Amino acid sequence: MSEAIQRENILATAAAYAKSPTSQAQRRVSILGATGSVGCSTLDLIGRHPNRYDVVALTANSNAELLAKQAIAHDAELAVLADPAGLDELKSALSGTSVEAAAGQEALMEAVARPADWTMAAIVGSAGLRPTLEAVRQGKSVALANKECLVSAGDIFMETVASSGTRLLPVDSEHSAGFQSIDPNASDAIEKITLTASGGPFRTWTREQIKTATPEDALNHPTWSMGDKLTIDSATLMNKGLELIEAFFLFPVEPDQLGVVVHPQSIVHCLVEYSDGSVLAQLSSPDMRTPIAYSLAWPERMWAPTERLDLAKIGSLDFEAPDNDRFPAPRMAIEALKANNGSTTVLNAANEIAVDAFLNRRIGLPSICTLVADTLEAVARDGLTKPKTLDDVLALDALSRTLARSLLPELV
Ligand code: NDP
Repeated sequence: MSEAIQRENILATAAAYAKSPTSQAQRRVSILGATGSVGCSTLDLIGRHPNRYDVVALTANSNAELLAKQAIAHDAELAVLADPAGLDELKSALSGTSVEAAAGQEALMEAVARPADWTMAAIVGSAGLRPTLEAVRQGKSVALANKECLVSAGDIFMETVASSGTRLLPVDSEHSAGFQSIDPNASDAIEKITLTASGGPFRTWTREQIKTATPEDALNHPTWSMGDKLTIDSATLMNKGLELIEAFFLFPVEPDQLGVVVHPQSIVHCLVEYSDGSVLAQLSSPDMRTPIAYSLAWPERMWAPTERLDLAKIGSLDFEAPDNDRFPAPRMAIEALKANNGSTTVLNAANEIAVDAFLNRRIGLPSICTLVADTLEAVARDGLTKPKTLDDVLALDALSRTLARSLLPELV
C-alpha cells in the first residue's frame, strides 16, 4: 500500500475529529467476537453507558450460551453464531425474546451488513478477515482489534478503508496509544514509532527453561488478560511481530522506523518520536477497557472503570532491549513485512497452526517460531508472489496452513 493512502487515512480521521460535534446522539453498535475477551470488555463499557449505545448485532463462533445471555442483557436486535452447529441451542436460549437468532457464514455477513454506526472487529485470527472487510465496506466506524486482518491482507484492507471512507479506530493498546500520540499536523516529522512489549511470562527465563514451558505457564500472562491465542502470541513475542506489521499499515512510517522496547509494567504503550527530539507517549493501566473506551467514544472520551495510574506508588518504569535470540518473532515479522511478497500472510497462517499445536501439547513453545520459519521457507521454495485480491490472500493462507500442518510432525 502506498504511503499516501496510509497518511490519508490517519489524517482524514484526525480532520474528522476537528469537525465533529461536541456531543453524540445514541449510536448503533455491533460487536463481532462478542463472547471473547475484547468483546466482553466492550459490552462491559456499553452496559455502563446504556443511553449512549443501541446494540444491533452480536456474533460469536460457537458459544451460544454466553451469546444469548449478552444479547438479552443488551437488548440486541440479532445474535449470530459463525458455526451453524449451535443454532438450535441459540434459538432455544433466545425463545420468548425479541432477539433474532441466526448461524453460518452467510448469516454472519448479513449481521455485519446490518446498519450500524460503529462495529467492533474482535473475531480472533484470520477468520475475522472477511467479516471485518465487510464491516469496512459499510463505510462507518470500525474499531479494529483483529490485528490478523492487517497482517494477512494489509494492502487490500487499507485500500478498502480508503475507498469506503471508513473511519478505522485502532483498538490494540499500542496502536490506540500511537493513534493518540500522533500529531496529525506533523506526521511528516515522525522519526520513529516504538511499541512497548511486556516481555510475557518468559521474559526472564533462559532458553533451556523456555523449552520446558507448558500451555499453563504460557497462559499465565503477567500484566494483560486476553484470549488464549493472543496470550500465547504474547509469550513468544509473535504478538509484537504482528503489531509491528499492524503499525506499518496504520501509521505513516517505513518498517525501519518501527521499534520495540520491553516494558514489563505495560503502562507506557507506544512512543512516537519526532524530528525535534520530542517523544509523545500514552500511559494507562494495562486494561483493554481504556483503548476500547477510546474507540467507542471517539472523538469524545468516556468514563471507563479502570485502575487509575498512581506513578508515585508505581515508583519506577523499566525498559530493556528485546532479546532477539530467545524471542525471534518480532525480527521475523519485520523481515516478512520488508519482503513485501505475501510473507506476512504466510507468517500469520503458520503461526495460527503453531499456536494451536502448542496449546494441544503437540509442540514446545520454541517450535512455534521454528514452524513459522519452516513454512515461510517452504512456501518461498515454491515461489511466493504478493496476493493482489482477497481470494489470493485466502488461497495463500490455505496453502500456508496445509504446509504448516505437513511440517508439524517434524517438530513433534
Ligand atoms: P478471544 O479468543 O477471547 O475471542 C475471540 C472471539 O472470536 C470470540 O467471540 C469467538 O467466539 C469468536 N470467534 C472465534 N473463532 C471464530 C470464527 N471462526 N468465526 C467467527 N467468530 C469466531 O480473542 P480476544 O478477544 O483475545 O482477541 C480478539 C482479537 O482482538 C484478536 O485478533 C486479538 O489479537 C485482538 N486483540 C485482543 C486483545 C485482548 O486484550 N484480548 C488486545 C488487542 C488485540 P466463541 O467465544 O464462540 O469461540
